[in-house]
Amino acid sequence: MLQPWIDERKQDIETLLKELVEINTYTANTAGVDRGMDTLSRVAQQMGFTVEAINGRHRLIRNAKAHGNKRVLLISHMDTVFPPDGDFLHYEVLEDGFVRGPGVGDIKGGLVMGLYAMLALKELYDDYDVQMIVSADEEKGSPTIRDWYMGGHVGANWAIGLEPGFPQGQLSATVPLGVVRQRRGYGAFLFKITGLASHSGTPHLGLNALEAAAQRIVRIHALNQWDKGISTNVGMLNGGISPNTVPGEVTGAVSFRYETLLDGENTRDAVEQILTATYLKNEEMGVVDQAEVTLDAFIPPMEHTPENQKLVDIVLQEAEKLGHHVVPIARGGGSDANFTSAAGTPSICGMGAPAHGIHTTEEMIHLPMMMNRINLLASTIYRLVSE
Ligand SMILES: [Zn+2]
Repeated sequence: MLQPWIDERKQDIETLLKELVEINTYTANTAGVDRGMDTLSRVAQQMGFTVEAINGRHRLIRNAKAHGNKRVLLISHMDTVFPPDGDFLHYEVLEDGFVRGPGVGDIKGGLVMGLYAMLALKELYDDYDVQMIVSADEEKGSPTIRDWYMGGHVGANWAIGLEPGFPQGQLSATVPLGVVRQRRGYGAFLFKITGLASHSGTPHLGLNALEAAAQRIVRIHALNQWDKGISTNVGMLNGGISPNTVPGEVTGAVSFRYETLLDGENTRDAVEQILTATYLKNEEMGVVDQAEVTLDAFIPPMEHTPENQKLVDIVLQEAEKLGHHVVPIARGGGSDANFTSAAGTPSICGMGAPAHGIHTTEEMIHLPMMMNRINLLASTIYRLVSE
């Protein structure tokens, strides 16, 4: 009953997808993002949903008549990584069901899927409590809505991320699709290390800030534990003004990733300790090396918990019923599902449109597969809210 309902709306679905892709919603193009939000909101309201603003510019789409004691939150965003003055701006229909365009997979296909899954449930079944949050700045780590996620969001029983599904091989009508059961967390520090500048002919009158940085780098890299999913990397270092000067100041950045929140906190603390300790001393001048440190990011992981796995199992069962080939995978990068998961809501991600080349000018999706995935999404939601 679901698939025929979805297939009948193929034209409307494609029209909305094209309309959304053609609106440039680069994160920094706030007027464009807001215009995309208005377009999506208008369609959602025509479908009978209500739309609320969250923390100013984000939108929450929900069924005001919803009842029942189970609530599902769909997680999505409006912004993309493609600037309005670039040359990747349009929706393009390719052969064999493929369409290419900025954000078509990440995440406008997912937005359309979420909205139509909500509508299918409402029209075919009941006013179930399914809500969709649309972040305005996810590609920057959702800085202005993170508190809403971490503070309990809508108190959902389950959260489903509409980030693209990851083909396990070349994207085709039959390729197995990955759904994301685990994402690592991400943290970063910015640092400035101060020594004492002097002429290179009299190094005993200075304190070399680059050497002080080197001391820290080797210790930070020694924290790498690949088998535990912990990685650290000093990715930027700027210092020195000439070969003939003892550098007095160095700036840099270090990032780290982790599979569990505990590992993340421990790694964060260890990196901070290494950065703020002193390693060099110039007795004659009475100086030691010193560091100023700023925590630039600390995003919780989407852990591979039993609760999250339960949701993955339900998706796999529903996929099997539909004859879809779906495999659970882990991803290195984060999404907003990291926040819902860390806030204690069982979460899964990668339930959106099957995509190739996201964040590049080759970004494309396979439309017939996306239509099938609306079915999987709606079937999964139905199972979660009606059980
Ligand atoms: Zn995305």
